[in-house]
Amino acid sequence: MTPGTNLGAFNAPAIADSLRGLTADPDRPNLYEIAQALGVRSITTDSYLDRLGHTSWYGGSPAIVLQGGQAPSRQRFTLAHELAHTFLRHGRTDDSGLSAAPATRPHFRREEWQADSVAGCLLVPEYAVARLRDHRNDDGSSIATLADIRQTAATYRVSNSVVARRLSDFDQSRHWLLINLKRLPRGHWFTWRIIGRLRGIDAVMEVLESNDSIFDSLSDRDSSIVFLARFGNHIFQLSGSGNRRDDLILILVDRVRRV
Ligand SMILES: [Zn+2]
Repeated sequence: MTPGTNLGAFNAPAIADSLRGLTADPDRPNLYEIAQALGVRSITTDSYLDRLGHTSWYGGSPAIVLQGGQAPSRQRFTLAHELAHTFLRHGRTDDSGLSAAPATRPHFRREEWQADSVAGCLLVPEYAVARLRDHRNDDGSSIATLADIRQTAATYRVSNSVVARRLSDFDQSRHWLLINLKRLPRGHWFTWRIIGRLRGIDAVMEVLESNDSIFDSLSDRDSSIVFLARFGNHIFQLSGSGNRRDDLILILVDRVRRV
């Protein structure tokens, strides 16, 4: 594939394969090798950068700056994201990462989404995501758990969120959601962040206060959890595995049922 082509038919896995092909070990792509092959003139870090990453073009030669002080897995993702911009010739000043650009700039937002998708495909190979999708427990039941997500994230040196988003994009047969809850000062839990989506539902998720005792009983060890959440006018029962560390909860949802 030629850089900058096929924006109409965007195919993140194919683009990631092209990038992987630029390295000696496509299974464990060295991002610095890819940068060199793409003609990146420099990769530097700047502790004062007001965004996670930034690519500037000087003629045909991009320079990448990464915000200093990011967690290693986060910085690795940011670099992969900037390399995707470079490959796709997104030649402009931009912010970087999973956070969306301002909604008034739909063109930029699409490029951010594309760079995130390519970065995810580059860092977590398809066979690893397929293995999570096809996971079977000893008792024959399926379902990858939080522990499986964590293990895959550690193997590929990315965050849990990157793996969860890959799984959600890849496995159309389930509603994979990775949910962070935070406890408010007055005691209730609220939805802080969701990776993945409930297919066909655009509404924002809101956990129901009747779940509070369920959430409070979670410990720091993964255990199964079933709770109710409202999406717009609809209430769903969500099932999966979760853990709690003080006022933060992490849940991987794998089953969803409307009630
Ligand atoms: Zn970006």
